[in-house]
Amino acid sequence: MSAENIGRRVAAETPATDVRSTSLPTVSDAPPVLEAVGITKHFRARSNPFRRTPVVVHAVDDVNLVLRPGRISALVGESGSGKSTLARLLAQLYPLTSGEIRYRGEATVATRGRRFRRYVSKVQLILQDPFGSFNPVSTIARTLHRAVRIHHPELRTAERTAFIEDLLAQVNLQPARQFTDKFPHELSGGQLQRISIARALAADPDVFLADEPVSSLDVSIRLGILNLLRRLTEERGVGLLYVTHDIASARYFAADTSVMYAGQLIESGSSESVTQEPAHPYTQLLIASAPDPSRPADAERIADIGQPPSLIDPPTGCRFHPRCPFAMERCRTEAPPRFDLGAEHWTRCWLYADDDEARAQRKEDAAAVGRLTASPAARKEDPPAAERP
Ligand code: SF4
Repeated sequence: MSAENIGRRVAAETPATDVRSTSLPTVSDAPPVLEAVGITKHFRARSNPFRRTPVVVHAVDDVNLVLRPGRISALVGESGSGKSTLARLLAQLYPLTSGEIRYRGEATVATRGRRFRRYVSKVQLILQDPFGSFNPVSTIARTLHRAVRIHHPELRTAERTAFIEDLLAQVNLQPARQFTDKFPHELSGGQLQRISIARALAADPDVFLADEPVSSLDVSIRLGILNLLRRLTEERGVGLLYVTHDIASARYFAADTSVMYAGQLIESGSSESVTQEPAHPYTQLLIASAPDPSRPADAERIADIGQPPSLIDPPTGCRFHPRCPFAMERCRTEAPPRFDLGAEHWTRCWLYADDDEARAQRKEDAAAVGRLTASPAARKEDPPAAERP
């Protein structure tokens, strides 16, 4: 936001009744604003006296991701899958082990100094815990004045105050005085998350990296924050990466969804296709274990989807094979390539290979998915397996 935008009126926010109440963003053909190209991050962990070789954590391996202006992309995975590390790599908080980050089409390395400050003003990270991102002994006014002074040093004090009032209006916190005189602990989690979004807006960013932005908030206020992020994404044409463990919210909030498992992307496509026709057995497990009011009440449920593998010694071949009910011999030794399923939906899973063993296992997988989404009564109407085509 430039200084000339002071006083801009704020469009009414989408009523916080249903995040589906606005249309999903359409596929944008605009050039990417931020890209991860084959990025890998291996951390060297503290050396173990019982091991001769250094301990390396394979946090992120060979990930490609594209963020486009005005579009919300979800990154879904369980705790420890590497999704938050990937967001921090995109924010250039850690140097890459290999690969590159492209900002507006150009490879960009900005891990320190002026280049880093310029980069973070365009690529803003919004963290899960708003309380942890504020100085507890500074008033909100002081925190916001500091942020505006950094990004708009040309503004005088009175102009800065007007600028801050406008920022708070954009995140629906009015009148501003009701919030600026307070300390962080005097505000609710939802109010503080709105202020952290306002602080990010002070930099006039092109990209938001929102790392679990609503998971620490009460369920009743999550929808309001998601609707606010959606409105800002559309109005300002920023690219938004929505990092979450909740695949159900990704379905309604994001235009496209990528699923991460043990440091690798294993499936990606439009949110509709990834959640309605999940191809990878891990994505199917995530969906089957998520609460879904539209699923028949008596459908089979998965209470425990098992534990993720160690990233110090990740499994060979497909990293999901120790947990996968459809694992074949090759899954244990060969990493699956990317299989394109049409309409920009792809997965890394040997079930989609073009041979008899994969086809047979794929049929088993489809039957298992059917059992997880249909009620027992509906399943009894299915023809016996032998009569199926
Ligand atoms: Fe399961 Fe093999 Fe597919 Fe991995 S590649 S998800 S082990 S079927």
